[in-house]
Amino acid sequence: MKTLGLFVFIDALGWEVLRRHPDFLADLAPHRQPLETILGYSSACDPSIISGLTPAEHKLWSSYYYLREGPSPFAWTRSLGLLPERLTERARVRHYLSKLVKRVCRITGYFQLYNVPFRHLPLFHYAEWKRIWEIQPEGLPVGTTIFDLMHAAGLSWYVHDSGKNDEGKLADLKTALESGKIDLAYISLGKLDALMHAEGTQTPKVGDLLRWYDVRIHEIMTCARAHYGDVRLHVFTDHGMHDIHEGYDLQEDMAALGLRFGRDYVAFYDSTMGRFWPLTEDARKSLHAALDHHPKGRLLPEEELRRLGVFFPDGQYGDLIFLMNPGIQIAPGFMGRKAIPGMHGFHPDEPDSRAMICANHPLPPDLRRIEQIFGLMCASTGITPPRGRAVPPSLFAP
Ligand SMILES: [Zn+2]
Repeated sequence: MKTLGLFVFIDALGWEVLRRHPDFLADLAPHRQPLETILGYSSACDPSIISGLTPAEHKLWSSYYYLREGPSPFAWTRSLGLLPERLTERARVRHYLSKLVKRVCRITGYFQLYNVPFRHLPLFHYAEWKRIWEIQPEGLPVGTTIFDLMHAAGLSWYVHDSGKNDEGKLADLKTALESGKIDLAYISLGKLDALMHAEGTQTPKVGDLLRWYDVRIHEIMTCARAHYGDVRLHVFTDHGMHDIHEGYDLQEDMAALGLRFGRDYVAFYDSTMGRFWPLTEDARKSLHAALDHHPKGRLLPEEELRRLGVFFPDGQYGDLIFLMNPGIQIAPGFMGRKAIPGMHGFHPDEPDSRAMICANHPLPPDLRRIEQIFGLMCASTGITPPRGRAVPPSLFAP
């Protein structure tokens, strides 16, 4: 019977959340440790986990980026801006329009319009255009993933269908395991992230949901053990979750500068980051004057962005990156109009940002960062990681 590498990703199950619920998988996966996350959102972290590359290397960081030269793939959406805002700001309408834009633009990756104003949308391009879970020519803009490498090695795997909910994904995983033929399974579960966004980290529903996951993962393990000689279980996440105590209108600060959006500067307002592209020297000075000593956040210097693996010399994701202080959400922003109870995407050094991993076998002591999970996937499938990838060095020591 084969060996199976089972990789269960639970979105936003950070180290601090796990510490408050120590019973979670205590019997099945007692080997556990915190991991350092990557600054940004799942759009940055997921590609790093499956490639061992930083966002600066695989080129996926935030969702939207300013398109310095056209033609914009979203130019045609200008007409959608003629619809009354009362209508287009409704969540259900945005959801429908997201699907429409995704289909017309033939985007195969994870796509949402969020709250991006239609009048600004044609200034931007979208990073995750292709589905990262597929092999090339889909996948990452730069670099190969574990799935590309398994494909080249003639191995087989299961990866979740992002269009399904957790129940659907778990049912698909069971079916895949029953074949007894796959080498690696990767499943991404999203319910906990959604719950904590909506209700914060302290709701008792977090414990209920973790118990539900605990039961489901036991069922999956029972199924896996019936069809495989050895099952190496890893349950992990990409980032934690912060409780939000304040919404802050960063756009209003910019409006007070009297700069023209699209002429003097362009900005994108993520939930926790304002990303700015000054288009004139005067605008650059004004933006610095407004942001250099801001009480609610700070501009990240180049050395820090480099250290965090998110520095882009061409300014793809912004020439100035302004990160909010923990617990303060940009609201209204381009990701949502109102502050919500839970959000991630604050500085990786914040305790609530930390990710984690737990396993049914001892973990390498030098496993420190989420992108090194790639090394665990290589080790469990016998793949030699390409040079320059983040892996726990002890796993591949000669
Ligand atoms: Zn989230």
